[in-house]
Amino acid sequence: MRLDVVSIFPDYLAPLDLSLIGKARREGLVDLHVHDLRDFTHDRHRTVDDTPYGGGAGMVMRPEPWGEALDHVVAAGAAAVGGGVPHLVVPGPGGRPFTQELARELAQQPWLAFACGRYEGIDERVYDEAREHMPVSVLSLGDYVLNGGEVAVLAMVEAIARLIPGVIGNAESLVEESHEDGLLEYPVYTKPPVWRGRGIPEVLLSGHHGQIARWRRDERLRRTAQRRPDMLAALDPAALDERDRAV
Ligand code: SAM
Repeated sequence: MRLDVVSIFPDYLAPLDLSLIGKARREGLVDLHVHDLRDFTHDRHRTVDDTPYGGGAGMVMRPEPWGEALDHVVAAGAAAVGGGVPHLVVPGPGGRPFTQELARELAQQPWLAFACGRYEGIDERVYDEAREHMPVSVLSLGDYVLNGGEVAVLAMVEAIARLIPGVIGNAESLVEESHEDGLLEYPVYTKPPVWRGRGIPEVLLSGHHGQIARWRRDERLRRTAQRRPDMLAALDPAALDERDRAV
């Protein structure tokens, strides 16, 4: 998968060189390119923002550097990917919530581009113009406001890239994770069997696979009911057996 990120703080994306995503890059599973928006300015001060039309506090990102940056991303990427356009993701608190389901959808794409806004955001004409050339999704990390899109891109790229086949060594570890099937994950334990006087649930030592699976499912249901009743309410009742309903 090719990934392009445009930001005025390219160094913010440095953590994508670490851990599993860094390894995936070195192995060629993820081809990440970070672009400095200021490289697409033409004045001495490398200006990317200006005051908002209509007045008000804060600054707005000017459309010209964004237009040039996205033209460059499309041209450079198309040569590398062999044609086509990227799916452009613009992080923003006013976007559609970014979910595991969306991460799965985006992980199927051969090419994603991310536009990191700052200040009060990007001139709206950049979105309108981009939509004429490529699919555009405005996605929110959550109902709060960050200073810029970089942190959101770090989170989104990590969530998407780990779903690309080969990035996570043991693909089975993806199956029972929180948000994969509408339930949160069960509690997990490792050695030692007793730590600071605290043991682990007996059933996990029983070696009885059926009982362990049942215990884990009960815990998933209980935890989801406690922490995310909205998720439980959204479950298809047909997906619940009699025992599930009793938990
Ligand atoms: N004035 C904007 C609004 O109220 O919608 C907020 C701008 S915010 C200070 C600057 C940038 O941070 C945004 O353009 C976006 O790139 C990013 N950002 C802030 N909160 C975000 C969130 N919850 N999810 C994704 N990106 C976010």
